[in-house]
Amino acid sequence: MSSLWDNAFEKQKASKLDGSMQVCSRCNLPYPKFASECEHCAHLSDSELDELRKQYNQQHNEKQLQQKLALIWAVILIVILLIVFIVVM
Ligand SMILES: [Zn+2]
Repeated sequence: MSSLWDNAFEKQKASKLDGSMQVCSRCNLPYPKFASECEHCAHLSDSELDELRKQYNQQHNEKQLQQKLALIWAVILIVILLIVFIVVM
């Protein structure tokens, strides 16, 4: 579970860290350098933070599933087009 969390945030870190952001050591999310505390977890208790992680992982998994489904539909469409093309020729 923790590796999934880490992988998800490696990508987010890479895309959002541009010098004006820093990564929170507690929740691993990027937040603005000028902020005195992390905007994501400063107001959360440890159990609430755990809940946030679960939610994030769930959303991330749903997004991945949607991307996979979109890819599958694209492949199906290409196969259908190929079949139609072959039949017509
Ligand atoms: Zn944080």
